[in-house]
Amino acid sequence: MSKLIKEPSETGRLHIDTPLMGASLVSKELLKRTEASSYFRMHPDINVIKIGGQSIMDRGAKALLPILDALIEAKENHKILLMTGGGTRARHVYNIAVDLGMPTGVLSKLGDKVSWQNAEMLSVLLAKHGGVKIGHGDNLEQLTMFCRLGYLPITYGVPPYGFFEHPAEHGSIPPHRTDCGAFLLAENIGARSLIYLKDEKGLYSADPKTTDPAGLTFYDRISARELLALDLDDLIIERPILALLQRSKCLKELQIIDALRHPEHIAAALNGEHVGTIIYQEPDPSSQPAA
Ligand code: ADP
Ligand code: MG
Repeated sequence: MSKLIKEPSETGRLHIDTPLMGASLVSKELLKRTEASSYFRMHPDINVIKIGGQSIMDRGAKALLPILDALIEAKENHKILLMTGGGTRARHVYNIAVDLGMPTGVLSKLGDKVSWQNAEMLSVLLAKHGGVKIGHGDNLEQLTMFCRLGYLPITYGVPPYGFFEHPAEHGSIPPHRTDCGAFLLAENIGARSLIYLKDEKGLYSADPKTTDPAGLTFYDRISARELLALDLDDLIIERPILALLQRSKCLKELQIIDALRHPEHIAAALNGEHVGTIIYQEPDPSSQPAA
């Protein structure tokens, strides 16, 4: 009589012997062994540019149109993915939801529609220059193709956590909003650079809009670790980015620039010039050769 279950060698079936079999995928020791010496980068020529909702788009034509002109010009020399912020309309809907005691995941779902509206507006304004609005689905694998064909892809910045948004450290505003979305996407597609277009030169020791600039320190270059240690009360980018940047595998720095007063800084930043605040990942001391 034949055996009910045959050995793989008898059937010719592939026997998969995977080192992760039976592992909880929680063990720190095991996880460390999954570190790659270098990570695959899907879109190494794409520059992710996040255009501020409150800081830029809410200011309307006067602020936005010179920036769009700069982007149209820059697109001739650089591959660009535009990502949009939310801004004041998102803040208004957050405020109503906070008043109603809604959880952070609901707020995340409400805010993404505003960021989507801004992406819609940009895609209309840029349509005749190749602007094309894309979602967070399969088009993200096609970014290099879009850019090679002369398109300027645009997507909304809110990461798709929705009801899976993490609880906030304080209160209920979703901690991962559009700055985080731009960071996470840039990291995962292996982007060439990440640039935030804002209405201030970069990071100060406090908000220059509410604090006398005379008493402020400007940080033109600072590591994520140093910035976390400073524990500033307010920042020009969302706080979770600092922890994310410390452990990112591909993206090692980001730049925040004043595109409101200096649209020409967009081309400069794309060319690798230091025109705003650069926040960078400090190299891991354990990977440095001993002195
Ligand atoms: P966006 O619309 O791009 O998301 P936000 O309005 O959310 O921009 O954040 C940018 C604003 O953060 C700046 O306009 C500035 O007024 C404020 N801000 C808060 N803290 C700081 C800081 N430490 N340094 C610089 N700007 C800060
Ligand atoms: Mg913001």
